[in-house]
Amino acid sequence: MKREIGDKNIDSALRPSRWEEYIGQEKTKGNLRMIIEAAKMRGEAVDHLLFYGQAGLGKTTLAALVAKETSAPLRIITGSSIEKAGDLAALLSSLEDGEVLFIDEAHRLNPAAEEVLYPAMESRKLHIVIGKGTGAHAVSIDLPPFTLIAATTRFDMLSSPLRSRFGAIFHLEFYTQGEIAEILRRSAKLLSVKADGEGLEVLAKASRFTPRTANRLLKRARDYLAVKNLKVIDKETARAILGIMEIDDLGLEPVERKILELIALKFKKGPVGIRTITAASGEEQATIEEVYEPYLMKLGFIKRTPAGRVLEEEAVEHLRREQWRV
Ligand code: ADP
Repeated sequence: MKREIGDKNIDSALRPSRWEEYIGQEKTKGNLRMIIEAAKMRGEAVDHLLFYGQAGLGKTTLAALVAKETSAPLRIITGSSIEKAGDLAALLSSLEDGEVLFIDEAHRLNPAAEEVLYPAMESRKLHIVIGKGTGAHAVSIDLPPFTLIAATTRFDMLSSPLRSRFGAIFHLEFYTQGEIAEILRRSAKLLSVKADGEGLEVLAKASRFTPRTANRLLKRARDYLAVKNLKVIDKETARAILGIMEIDDLGLEPVERKILELIALKFKKGPVGIRTITAASGEEQATIEEVYEPYLMKLGFIKRTPAGRVLEEEAVEHLRREQWRV
């Protein structure tokens, strides 16, 4: 029997482990490779890097590639997991020579922890206070060379002192539909799933220009094929999967269509404030701003204006196509 990759191991199986497999983001890739090459020539650790952009666009994957390229160990933490400044100090002092420390969701780091980071990033020093009261005194510990790679979905929430301490900052963009189709083709091959061009196109169009979403759709398509005893993801199969997942041909979820409809009907296409949308839709403001809106703006469905959100004609046309009464 052919061995299949289990669902849980799929994410690591699909994660690109060579630059050639990392599709798109050409400018970022080119710049990063140059920075790494130069650091290697000088025999130094790679400069501290910041990646920002939507979830699932490949920030963690890039960090892993940087570590691999420099043969450095990689340690991954999230900003919110650091509760006290002391936790970060302990972590920094345990770093190995050249290690890459990846801090995901760096905008959730607390300010006291950020203070610990500044001297560590700038001069590889850790300033800690030993003792309490009158006996307290500050000591400075030297850290080994290391590379901090921070990732965030909210560049605007990152403090400017922290931002200014990175050697290079990269904005990961949404992928083109063609790049997503290429990612799907590669993933399908790795998972031994057969898909024809039209089937892949339907999945690519519904992938929100995001590799993680594309791979998730492919996984569900793979389940569907197995359960229905089908051999190939074609147009019909792909559409059936979108139907089961309750997403439309552009990958919009019911809640997003609800928000669009709300702005169209209740607020006469806007402008309407984000707080009003939040209250009327019952969704969290952060989710609307960080997950739904970037994609809706990328589609040209919503525009942010000083007076509030405005619905664009493209959105109205899409809702009509989807049989909404707008
Ligand atoms: P982020 O850290 O930005 O949330 P990840 O790096 O975890 O995103 O990427 C999510 C998944 O998408 C990865 O497991 C990987 O399989 C896939 N992926 C991301 N970027 C690419 C890319 N450029 N080419 C191919 N696959 C990618």
